[in-house]
Amino acid sequence: MTTHYTAPLADVRFALYDVLQVEKLFAHLPGCEALNRELMDAVLEEAAKFSQAVLAPLNQPGDQQGCSFDKNTASVTTPEGFKRAYQQFVEGGWAGLTAPEASGGQGLPETIGAPVKEFIDSANLAWGTYPLLSHGAIEALRVIGEDWQREVFLKPIVAGTWTGTMCLTEAHCGSDLGLLKTRAEPNADGSCAITGTKIFITAGEHDFTDNIVHLVLARLPGAPAGVKGISLFIVPKFKVDREGHVGERNAVRCGAIEHKMGLKGSATCVMNFDGAQGWLIGEPNRGLNAMFVMMNTARLAVGLQGLALSERAYQNALGYARERLQMRALSGAKFPDKPADPLIVHGDVRRMLLTQKSLIEGGRALGLYAATLVDIQHRSKEDDARVQAETLLSFLTPIVKAMLTENAIECTNLALQIYGGHGYIAEHGMEQYVRDARITTIYEGTTQIQALDLLGRKIFQQQGAGLKLFLEEIAAFCSRHASDESLKEFVVPLAAIAGEWADITQTIGKRAMANPDEIGAAAVDYLFYSGYVALAYFWARSVAAADSSSHNQDFKQAKRLTARFYFARILPRASAHRAAVEASAESLFAMADALFD
Ligand SMILES: Cc1cc2nc3c(=O)[nH]c(=O)nc-3n(C[C@H](O)[C@H](O)[C@H](O)COP(=O)(O)OP(=O)(O)OC[C@H]3O[C@@H](n4cnc5c(N)ncnc54)[C@H](O)[C@@H]3O)c2cc1C
Repeated sequence: MTTHYTAPLADVRFALYDVLQVEKLFAHLPGCEALNRELMDAVLEEAAKFSQAVLAPLNQPGDQQGCSFDKNTASVTTPEGFKRAYQQFVEGGWAGLTAPEASGGQGLPETIGAPVKEFIDSANLAWGTYPLLSHGAIEALRVIGEDWQREVFLKPIVAGTWTGTMCLTEAHCGSDLGLLKTRAEPNADGSCAITGTKIFITAGEHDFTDNIVHLVLARLPGAPAGVKGISLFIVPKFKVDREGHVGERNAVRCGAIEHKMGLKGSATCVMNFDGAQGWLIGEPNRGLNAMFVMMNTARLAVGLQGLALSERAYQNALGYARERLQMRALSGAKFPDKPADPLIVHGDVRRMLLTQKSLIEGGRALGLYAATLVDIQHRSKEDDARVQAETLLSFLTPIVKAMLTENAIECTNLALQIYGGHGYIAEHGMEQYVRDARITTIYEGTTQIQALDLLGRKIFQQQGAGLKLFLEEIAAFCSRHASDESLKEFVVPLAAIAGEWADITQTIGKRAMANPDEIGAAAVDYLFYSGYVALAYFWARSVAAADSSSHNQDFKQAKRLTARFYFARILPRASAHRAAVEASAESLFAMADALFD
């Protein structure tokens, strides 16, 4: 028995057209002016069809079959149907959807790419990891590649005939990339010989395409220790010269694939570089900055992975809650003609469903808002608008990544819980979502690393510039709707909690001056606090947008009631996180390490 999936077109359209008003935005954004609703709808509908018809049926079999590795040929075979689906993806022009037209892409904004990605990942997250890594490589090559590198490497990736990877992690270095040991020795022809072993490399080897372009972090001779001595290199599986001629096999091979908890159709590879030919991309010793170009895109994309899994798990849990009959409602039978009432009448089942619905729809508005910032940052003609979008985006990226993926762990678990024992057994397909979701809070920087990025870099190092902008935006929304009686129930608590956000930040800042451990001690609770407040803002905006839209009464009602649930039952979590933040680092560090056992 497999789970079903229907792309949530109505809610995506609502978020894009009503909440974020992207038509107004695109009308003045270079390269987007021609994008009207009809065109955007057409892309979304096609993506929905492809995801539902081609990818979704491969999800459960792909999980059961997994990838296989042949050590004699160092080759990876993806689950049955994955390769054919990739060919269809390429034929449909999806590989270059948001890539620049100059490189053969379709030049669509990320705001449209993001929901397309959500549909793909809901349908089949493991399959979606292959194009995801290409998307990161496209960004890095686009932003920091030299002309010849763009010509030679970017175009085939945009066309989908080659794919990309991101090779950072080594056995002894994950979160701390400063420890990495892979070496790059300059060759006479201007390339470098790359030597070292990378682990956990998604799509490091597969059977979709002939060539694979690895973007690899390594150290040049004499490079300073730590993150200031890392450079980024392009290392193709088959050598490619500056004119684009593909030559012999490069000295990079997959040594093994990992056996893992979930995401089984995605090849997680050990990659051995044995003097492989690599080309420096960007400046020497500035590789981490270059990598951040890929990582920021990928962090938003992983946030969307979380959203996507939550959505699919929720759709199925909702269907099950409507059909499965167990016990009677406490207030008396709701379906007296049936032997028992459906699960959906029970208070706690409703809590589980509404928790998912509110986290998913609020998260979608937040995620798509971040995508609009990417487009403004890349395309706006106005310097101020670009800088402002960049500042806000850099502040929101760790929140989107960590919050949407942590929510996925909660949502997929709640969805499984609604199925009871039938969720825990494999037959119904629900346990796959729990297993698949687990990695999303780990890769692309764990939740802890996102939290340190938020509080350490985005707040304290940048003097809270992003937070300030976001708070101004919330304040402007609240004052715009201050006299709107129908929004009062959302605007008043939102304004109050947003006011606290700056206070808490200052409290941590003062403490951190005396004791830097205060940042690490507060970071994850601070991130959750920020995430819940951000979602409250998008829920208030959603109700305002729904009220003034042409949607029918049921739609408006559903938005308002879900928002009411969010404010009543989810937003109070922010207060608990605030209390934890205010409790300081003291209780974490009081105990000696030796006393932990
Ligand atoms: C399926 C899969 C796919 C992956 N794909 C890729 C890929 O394509 N390319 C790639 O380069 N890597 C990839 N990775 C690696 C992934 O990005 C790392 O696993 C991740 O960054 C964490 O590193 P680590 O596993 O070494 O954990 P560690 O860094 O050892 O961390 C262990 C724990 O300690 C916590 N921690 C570490 N430092 C701190 C700190 N300063 N403060 C608080 N907590 C801290 C972490 O949050 C974590 O909970 C993948 C991993 C998996 C499992």
